[in-house]
Amino acid sequence: MNDILPEQTRLWQFFESKIRTVLGTYGYDEIRMPMVESTDLFKRSIGEVTDIVEKEMYTFDDRNGDSLTLRPEGTASCVRACEEHGLLYNQTQRLWYMGPMFRYERPQKGRYRQFHQIGAETFGMTGPDIDAELILMSARFWRELGIQDIVTLQLNTLGSLAARNDYREALVAYLSQNMEQLDEDSKRRLTTNPLRILDSKNPQTQALLDGAPNLHDFLDQESREHFEALRTLLDRAGLKYEINQRLVRGLDYYGKTVFEWVTDHLGAQGTICAGGRYDGLVEQLGGRPVPAVGFAMGVERLILLIEAAGSVPDNLQQKVDLFVAVAGAGAESEGLLLAERLRSDMQLRIQLNCGGGSLKSQLKRADKSGAPYALLLGEDELLAGKIVIKPLRGQGEQHLVDMAELTAVLKEINLGKGLEN
Ligand code: ATP
Ligand code: MG
Repeated sequence: MNDILPEQTRLWQFFESKIRTVLGTYGYDEIRMPMVESTDLFKRSIGEVTDIVEKEMYTFDDRNGDSLTLRPEGTASCVRACEEHGLLYNQTQRLWYMGPMFRYERPQKGRYRQFHQIGAETFGMTGPDIDAELILMSARFWRELGIQDIVTLQLNTLGSLAARNDYREALVAYLSQNMEQLDEDSKRRLTTNPLRILDSKNPQTQALLDGAPNLHDFLDQESREHFEALRTLLDRAGLKYEINQRLVRGLDYYGKTVFEWVTDHLGAQGTICAGGRYDGLVEQLGGRPVPAVGFAMGVERLILLIEAAGSVPDNLQQKVDLFVAVAGAGAESEGLLLAERLRSDMQLRIQLNCGGGSLKSQLKRADKSGAPYALLLGEDELLAGKIVIKPLRGQGEQHLVDMAELTAVLKEINLGKGLEN
């Protein structure tokens, strides 16, 4: 679990505000769920024989003896919250959430025990149009973040439950005949969760799968049509994708559409965003059947990717527009009031020198603040009703201006322009 320090939080805030803006342009609403839920919720939704439930959850008994779990993902909580508050009754929902998730995994680059996701979940819409909207929205995120050239979309359909069951039988029959070629994990999954074997990273297992039956030969008519229609929509929007029949996702609740955005710039942790349709989940958790589709993206991996792509904006390092240096008791109190006034009148981001210090040490702080300009106010200037504007980044000489002219001069040098971003 990591601390995220100020230098990093600036990039995080940039990232979050881009994502938030895009979500807004599609009319999605934010929902905030608690970070702890009853353990049962995750077991019933994610599935007992998945990596998450088998070995990754932080589970504990509270003082009452109830088993609680730090949420490993957001979908189950979101469904629980919507059901509990009647948000799914006779209406559609387009929701998003953001926050920490917890999984007991081996920490490495791009994989942490507390990590962050931004997710979107939609409810009440059965057609491929909403699947397409979600996918196009995610593509827009990557364009906004400047990483569109280093990510690719993988797409698959898992078909109906019945189709998956038929396929599972055929897959198990095939693999059982070739048991000796399976890795240990896959042998275990053959009885617990055979579709997950398709996910195996083991090259020998992957080679064996080349001869296995294909999921798409087992698809039901409805899923086939849904998938074709989705492909047509994405094609018409000009969005490129690869069909990956082995993409099954690690959670039990998916059916029909599944997708992942992947990159080869992050080593083994290549998936940055993953999602799909889960029409059965609401009913499985005790509600009436409600169609649903959503995705979640890993914030840490996306931050790493923005850095890898060289897409960190330059102006992130500039956290203030103006540094106010003050020397002498009168100037100190006048400087405090001046800074207040400029924040109100010009919406400037201002760092005031607090705690005294020589002019030299104050200018060092000014430099460190990243501000392009400093104001210098000493007792002499105060008496004369003037103030010094000093450029800090090589934009020319310093000027002595009348206090009454200050706002006009600051406007002229276009200070505060960085604020729009
Ligand atoms: P992986 O195969 O990498 O373990 P996953 O299938 O378990 O991923 P999901 O449950 O689909 O992941 O979560 C959605 C996204 O959240 C992932 O695509 C990834 O970007 C991110 N993510 C998942 N687990 C972690 C983690 N431990 N640390 C950082 N990010 C993670
Ligand atoms: Mg995982």
